[in-house]
Amino acid sequence: MPSNENKIYLTFDDGPHPVITPKVISLLERYNAKATFFCVGDNVRKFPDILKLIKNSGHNVGNHSYNHLNGWKTENRIYYKNIEKANKLINSNLFRPPYGRISPSQIRHLKKQYEIIMWSALSYDFDDRISKEECLDFSLRNCRPGSIIVFHDSEKAKEKMFYALEGFLDYFSQKRLGFAKLISNK
Ligand SMILES: [Zn+2]
Repeated sequence: MPSNENKIYLTFDDGPHPVITPKVISLLERYNAKATFFCVGDNVRKFPDILKLIKNSGHNVGNHSYNHLNGWKTENRIYYKNIEKANKLINSNLFRPPYGRISPSQIRHLKKQYEIIMWSALSYDFDDRISKEECLDFSLRNCRPGSIIVFHDSEKAKEKMFYALEGFLDYFSQKRLGFAKLISNK
C-alpha cells in the first residue's frame, strides 16, 4: 500500500471468534485503529453477530473461504464454490487465500471479482516455536508505513496476538502512524 500516508494496515485472519474478536475490537478502539478482518465463512455461520459487530465498529471484512481451504490442494471448481459460499455471508470484494496458497489460474479467475490481498509482514502469532516477546519484535521490525500485517483472532494465536498487538499499537501510535482498513477498488 502507499507509504506516503503514514498508515499501517492491520489484518486479522481466521475469525470471527465470539470472545477474542470483540476483545480485539475494544483494543483497537483505544487506539482509534481500523482494521480488516478476513473471516472464515463457517465461523460467520456460527457467530453472525460478531460479523455485524466488526462492521458496525467501522472495520472492514474480507473473505477467507468457507472452510479455510488450501488452494494448492483443492480442485479449482471446489475452491471457487467454497469462496462463493463464504461470500454469501461475508459479502466483500476482498479475498485472502488461506495459508497464502493460491495457484496462478486461481488468481486469474478470482481477480475478476476480488481483490486478492496478501501481506507484507507476519506477526507469527500462530507459531508455537516463538515467544510473545519475539512475536512483538518481529512485528515491529518488519513494518513501516504502507505495510499490511497479519494477526489471527483465533484460539491458537490469542495469547501472543494480544501481547504483540498492544505493543504494536503503542509503538506505532507514538511514531504518529495511523491504522487503516483496506478498501476494495472493485
Ligand atoms: Zn487463515
